Amino acid sequence: MTTALFTHSDCLEHETPEGHSERADRLRAIWKALEDPAFDALDRREAPLAERSELLRVHPEAHVAAIEAAIPAEGYVSLDADTHVMAGSLVAALRAVGAVVSAVDAVMAGEVKNAFCAIRPPGHHAERVTPMGFCLFGNVSIGAKRALDHYGLERVAIIDFDVHHGNGTQDLLWDEPRILFCSTHQMPLYPGTGEPRETGAHDNIINAPLPPMSDGAAFRKIMEEQILPALDDFQPELVLISAGFDAHKDDPLAQLNFDVEDFVWVTEKICDIADKHAGGRVVSTLEGGYDLESLAASTAAHVKVLMERGA
Ligand SMILES: [Zn+2]
Repeated sequence: MTTALFTHSDCLEHETPEGHSERADRLRAIWKALEDPAFDALDRREAPLAERSELLRVHPEAHVAAIEAAIPAEGYVSLDADTHVMAGSLVAALRAVGAVVSAVDAVMAGEVKNAFCAIRPPGHHAERVTPMGFCLFGNVSIGAKRALDHYGLERVAIIDFDVHHGNGTQDLLWDEPRILFCSTHQMPLYPGTGEPRETGAHDNIINAPLPPMSDGAAFRKIMEEQILPALDDFQPELVLISAGFDAHKDDPLAQLNFDVEDFVWVTEKICDIADKHAGGRVVSTLEGGYDLESLAASTAAHVKVLMERGA
């Protein structure tokens, strides 16, 4: 057993306008960090293009058709103030979904213990019919739904520690009692959702916001008091992670003050839950993280824990 790394060079082809935070260099920085010999044992795999049927697990046909129709032959089309598509965007987005779907398959088949998907565009802001916040499709939600509907699992957990609330994941899974979605995020901050009173149709959502300038100690406290006990009670058969590293103190888009060790800590805690209830099965997928140096260091440290726990 080992750790799989799913990625694809097509994820570079989603080019964003000059100066945009969500840029291809993010992925290049992660790849460079993972070239270190410490990561030689990774089972490196190319992410396939997702089948249309996978997108339709959480999005209506009209959303998929609208994204396809928006892709220009040249130049950019803006879907909102932050979210743009160009010629390579659809293929990149299909690789991103395909990575998560394949990672779920590999973990469920027992080929690997856990997996990390180094992909872009990210997914946790994409709602049923609304692309937003750099996201086109709900990558992690699609993976969770596949685990339920294709493999017949009854309980899947998603932990989202990106600094922004995963409004898209919440929207896509609001009425899904088989999934527990847990999010820590800065509040107030984009996209403005993620109040504790937003609990889903079946008390299947836990939102644990942190005020600006919160540090790793505040994060660990809220995890230990609210989220980890709820995960333990839920007894997930598979654990997915929306791994955004933009709560790092050096990140330019938010004001939380985590450091690399906080991401190591939470990864270990999540793996503990997975070891106890899910046979160690963890699929983690990249969301945000916009300071290249801290993104690369945080991602590498996160993957290192997955490798230690997957060995
Ligand atoms: Zn984010």
